[in-house]
Amino acid sequence: MRISVDIDGVLANFVHKVREIADLPGDYEPPDWDFSDVLDKDGLKKVFAVVRETHNFWRNMPVYQENLYFLRDFLCRENGHEVYFVTSRAITKGLSVSKQTEEWLYHNRIRPYLNFQSIIAVDNAAKKREIIEALNIEVSVDDYGPTIEQCSTLPNHRAYLLDRPWNRDKDYGTRIYNLEQFFNLALGRKPADYYMV
Ligand SMILES: [Mg+2]
Repeated sequence: MRISVDIDGVLANFVHKVREIADLPGDYEPPDWDFSDVLDKDGLKKVFAVVRETHNFWRNMPVYQENLYFLRDFLCRENGHEVYFVTSRAITKGLSVSKQTEEWLYHNRIRPYLNFQSIIAVDNAAKKREIIEALNIEVSVDDYGPTIEQCSTLPNHRAYLLDRPWNRDKDYGTRIYNLEQFFNLALGRKPADYYMV
């Protein structure tokens, strides 16, 4: 099966980095995509300026341990799948985004084992749909609602939204709570409505 897994907000904790950069409380979670309750447009621009100026910013991302564990477990136990990390990330100083991401995955013990894995870095989340279509990716997970909406229009594709505080403003599509659920649904080990409440 060909699978797409988003990185930021799913495996990597970008919010944690924004807290550090913008000096926000340690338990702060944004209620929307733009951190609009604590940052104005200029404030958000400054955060991304710091990201771009930071040497190998993406190589040093903190993680969501639970989801990394489920991904590792999937790759260890399964074989013959293709996992594409389709990620929209800003270019920073230092190594290329793809190389930083590769080193980060390696450092976090994400290995393909008997599967195949590849990183596809894009500069805009709106490009994810065409990549997923071109690669005939059958199932995807992302924390960005509009990406799920766009990918849900592809025939022969299932797109799952990972529930996060910043994507609860709308019903973007099928919502899941962790990557264990995602892989169970992806492989058809649970019926499509199994996790629905
Ligand atoms: Mg994301």
